[in-house]
Amino acid sequence: MPKQKSKKQNRYLPFAVGFKIPSEQEKRKAIGSSPMIPALDPQSFKGFGFFPPIPRPTSIDDWLAQYVEEGQSYSDYQRQCPWLSKRKLKYMPQQFVSKGKTILEKYPDGKIYLLPVGDFSGENCVKFKSLRDFAQIYLGLPVVELPGIALEEENHKIFWTENPEDRPTHGARSSSRKRKFEINSRYHPGTNRIQLKMDETLLRLRSLIPTDALCMVGLTMYDLYGDDTDLFVAGMAAGNHRVAMFSFNRYDPALSFSIEKWYDITCDSTISASERRKLILQRSCKLLVHEIGHLLGIDHCIYYDCCMNGSGHLSEDFRQPMHLCPVDLHKLQTLVGFDIVERYQKLAGFYKEHKMEEELKWVTRRIEFITDQTKS
Ligand SMILES: [Zn+2]
Ligand SMILES: [Zn+2]
Repeated sequence: MPKQKSKKQNRYLPFAVGFKIPSEQEKRKAIGSSPMIPALDPQSFKGFGFFPPIPRPTSIDDWLAQYVEEGQSYSDYQRQCPWLSKRKLKYMPQQFVSKGKTILEKYPDGKIYLLPVGDFSGENCVKFKSLRDFAQIYLGLPVVELPGIALEEENHKIFWTENPEDRPTHGARSSSRKRKFEINSRYHPGTNRIQLKMDETLLRLRSLIPTDALCMVGLTMYDLYGDDTDLFVAGMAAGNHRVAMFSFNRYDPALSFSIEKWYDITCDSTISASERRKLILQRSCKLLVHEIGHLLGIDHCIYYDCCMNGSGHLSEDFRQPMHLCPVDLHKLQTLVGFDIVERYQKLAGFYKEHKMEEELKWVTRRIEFITDQTKS
């Protein structure tokens, strides 16, 4: 995990053998735009620089230097997305209307749940309410924060503590007693750091998914790992893909991480507190909507510089934009049925409130551009 890209690494590296960079024509086809939605017409935004092409790899660890992604066009999505199917998804106990067009017409009670796992009260922790607000605006779907799961540390071990009274939407329970389990973790005595193993945590999450959930995302400030050989993992989704767990631990710009040892973390105190909080929020928001995008059936993007691009390491992740390219915006718009400009306006409000200048500038230009287009 290279911490920061140095200048001399800016030379381009080849894509993974077999990867084919989409031509302009293929991109246009992938958008599947119709004259009904001028905001998605690639002819109209040509030359405005809203959607640069997907960057070529500059590091051997970059996603497209390692993986041959085929890309998922708009029409692929229409065909493949389980949420757009006329058949109800497996294991969904909630009401289903097969003739519905959008996800909420099909699943009228559907919600996306966020579950805090462990403490989020620290000064440099992301604020849950901001995350929730952002996801709701970005996705255009109801996003609900669940009462958190407490993680208790005792003798360098971690205990998962569930209070059944906190989970009224989950249905019947055999016992109302508070439950406490040790979960797999690893501890490093020299640095006093602890990391959670994903396996069991994901199983626990699956047992907690509310009946009206479209999907549920567990979020934590703890560092995570999958296999013993992992340095860390950002997170993963479980089995039927309706449950996932992610960590914000590595998103703090004041921390730098060793590329060899998971517990080797140093703190740089020169970054200002406000800049630190802003970057943590920005990075966390981006991770969250990227991952929920996957849960909603959107694959990695190979068409443009886009929030749905895959990332092989942290600095690649950090340089990716917050916005969706026209291919993926069209997918989300079809799934949810929002008005594109209205969504951009709400995003502008969020970016303004949280002083996310770069995102605000982009979205403001987009709004102006689309409004001008529709006038002429
Ligand atoms: Zn991804
Ligand atoms: Zn995209």
